[in-house]
Amino acid sequence: MAKILIVEDEPDLSEPVRAYLTHEHHLVEVVADGLEAMERLRFYKYDVIILDWMLPGMQGVEVCKGFRDSGGTTPILMLTSRRQTNDKIIGLDAGADDYLTKPFDVHEVSARVRALLRRPQTVHSNVLRVRNIILETSTFRVTREGTDIQLLPKEFALLEFFMRHPNQVFSAEALLDRVWSSESEASPETIRTYIKRLRQKIDRKDEQSSIISTVHGVGYKLEA
Ligand code: CA
Repeated sequence: MAKILIVEDEPDLSEPVRAYLTHEHHLVEVVADGLEAMERLRFYKYDVIILDWMLPGMQGVEVCKGFRDSGGTTPILMLTSRRQTNDKIIGLDAGADDYLTKPFDVHEVSARVRALLRRPQTVHSNVLRVRNIILETSTFRVTREGTDIQLLPKEFALLEFFMRHPNQVFSAEALLDRVWSSESEASPETIRTYIKRLRQKIDRKDEQSSIISTVHGVGYKLEA
């Protein structure tokens, strides 16, 4: 799962992309205005940004430039119309990582997103292994010593996040920010509930300590 922000003012374009990427188990948020996009990017972290060039409020290329100038490193896929293909260099200079010219196919958006997620910077792989747990993002499958573990989508997303960041401590607030939707009503209490359920499902009964440990007063970490 990746957390993806789509910035596109035409619902006819953003909706199929949102639906398709959501179906691929990504967490997708859509905003239709450049200024609103800047606001989101100031407060929330995403794994990929799909950014239209022509936007109300603030042009996509300006959003891109502003985000990069403020230190943002998230990969950006820019959407341009055919008339603007000559502007690609401007977009690349502004910090975009890739381009897609409208009209496009949702499968191509998905492929480009996958390519951006594979970049070493984000170290996104389809198969994650920590200790004896294997998580396959493409098939939405988790096994422990070869036995399937049934997880709900949010439990899967949380485990995937921990497995991508082993031995790092995250506060409940940080987990909310990275794994839950920015508009979610979830609270740190929600995180505690999910961690508890996840431990019940993934820990071996005969083990003393959980694979997800509590760092008192700080948060949680996955012990690799
Ligand atoms: Ca537009």
